[in-house]
Amino acid sequence: MHFAVCIKQVPDTAEVKIDPETNTLVRAGVESMANPYDITALEAALGLKEKYGARVTALSMGPPQADSVLRQALSMGADDAVLLCDRAFAGADTLATSYTLSKAIETLGTVEPVDLVLCGKQAIDGDTAQTGPGIAARLGLTQFTYVLDVEWLDPGKRRLQARRKVEGGMEVISGPLPALLSVELEMATPRRASLPMLIASLRAEIKVWDAKAIGARADLVGIKGSPTWVKAIASPQLHRAGPKWDAAESVSAAVSAALGELFSDRDFEAGFAKGWKAEG
Ligand SMILES: Cc1cc2nc3c(=O)[nH]c(=O)nc-3n(C[C@H](O)[C@H](O)[C@H](O)COP(=O)(O)OP(=O)(O)OC[C@H]3O[C@@H](n4cnc5c(N)ncnc54)[C@H](O)[C@@H]3O)c2cc1C
Repeated sequence: MHFAVCIKQVPDTAEVKIDPETNTLVRAGVESMANPYDITALEAALGLKEKYGARVTALSMGPPQADSVLRQALSMGADDAVLLCDRAFAGADTLATSYTLSKAIETLGTVEPVDLVLCGKQAIDGDTAQTGPGIAARLGLTQFTYVLDVEWLDPGKRRLQARRKVEGGMEVISGPLPALLSVELEMATPRRASLPMLIASLRAEIKVWDAKAIGARADLVGIKGSPTWVKAIASPQLHRAGPKWDAAESVSAAVSAALGELFSDRDFEAGFAKGWKAEG
């Protein structure tokens, strides 16, 4: 079997700044890292590889320095890594990103068909969670989103069964391969790379593919292929942390103190009395 894992390089969110002129992220001087959901997806792929046998290819679309997330993937145990890097890919929205990644997965498949694509549920910068489903739709893959666990994978029958998160609980679904999983952080705990793997990953070859290498149409990649434009963007205002009451010794004393604080606010009291009358 052959698994492809999509890994996005993202800015370290604690340091994200937005350019008020252009409404884009200020990336200069900002530390980058692999999207945490994608490292979980990689760990899940490596776990499945160990159980069922497979080749794991890590894929990333990004600038040349995004090769660091691929080296991380190799150090953890990925067999191969491909960086999709071309000036034409810049400024991609989720439509163009999913198109580019799906063309790369198609290209991988010309050598060895891809049975399973694993993505993070979402990237922690763009946060849309659209790219995985976009790839699945373009390639006609069975789509398993919000995945918590793969209960079994049957390479002979070419099916898998997964547990996925739904509101208020979880759901068990099964479906045919080839499939795409978009994974939750709870799915796996990423391993630490061993020192020899770490050293080997620094010397490993990373394939670099441009638009031509994946047979992508120039009008469907990057900014040209992106109908989305961000009109405005802002960081949420940080609010002062509210008061806390320690309920370890007495819950009722803590609740009384909290209510006392709430009712010391005249607006709250007036609103409460009004609501109480309306209910009555
Ligand atoms: C602050 C911000 C806001 C944005 N808002 C929008 C928006 O509203 N609409 C829009 O279309 N685009 C938006 N974008 C652009 C968006 O970053 C790109 O489309 C991006 O490449 C994919 O979208 P995402 O980051 O939301 O990823 P998601 O769809 O959340 O990512 C899901 C998964 O897809 C895979 N993946 C995503 N990108 C890559 C990649 N480059 N390489 C490898 N795997 C990848 C990863 O496995 C990831 O976990 C925004 C970007 C930023 C930084």
